[in-house]
Amino acid sequence: MYLKEIIINGFKSFPEKTVIKINSEFTAVVGPNGSGKSNISDAFKWVMGEQSAKTLRGTKMEDVIFAGTERRKPLGYAEVNLVFDNSDKRLPIEYQEVCVTRRLFRTGESEYLLNKTSTRLKEIRELFMNTGIGIDGYSIIGQGRVEDIVGTKSETRRKVIEEAAGIVKFKTRKEESIRKLLKTEENIERVNDIISEIE
Ligand code: ATP
Repeated sequence: MYLKEIIINGFKSFPEKTVIKINSEFTAVVGPNGSGKSNISDAFKWVMGEQSAKTLRGTKMEDVIFAGTERRKPLGYAEVNLVFDNSDKRLPIEYQEVCVTRRLFRTGESEYLLNKTSTRLKEIRELFMNTGIGIDGYSIIGQGRVEDIVGTKSETRRKVIEEAAGIVKFKTRKEESIRKLLKTEENIERVNDIISEIE
């Protein structure tokens, strides 16, 4: 499985539909300062569910929508598509090609799509769990991340190793189950209280 294409439309410095084809072996993006290289990795993180405007180098989420220039009006929405080649079926889904989309409108409305069908971020996160792809994955090594990995923080290093070992999915499910179990125990307690009041 590998990222084949990033299609950007109205995101940050890309007002026009821009298709970035990625070679399966090696692709380098070069350009002068401020030309939008980092905006491409921001676009990737955004689709993968980044919720922090600060991480995307803005102050509010709306800042990811093309803000206009002297010669061009601002746009009303941003859309980014990530197209993955899934011919090795590494993603547990029947499709050979998987397209993940995120859209955000200036009105605040937003949506995620999986192969053009509306979905929830939770579904996307689950699909990519254990692949190393995601906002916390090791597929994006940003500035400072190398230090995180080789540095002294054993917790950070452990997270990366857990993702690579493929146990994050199970850890997340376990946490969810524990939450549900606690809620159920609380409900049972409440029911028992009511029963003893009636008796
Ligand atoms: P460097 O090599 O200096 O790191 P870079 O090529 O990575 O630069 P980016 O940081 O990706 O460049 O792009 C910065 C540019 O994106 C700036 O010119 C900024 O004005 C523009 N930009 C960011 N957000 C928006 C937006 N919402 N609308 C229009 N342009 C934007």
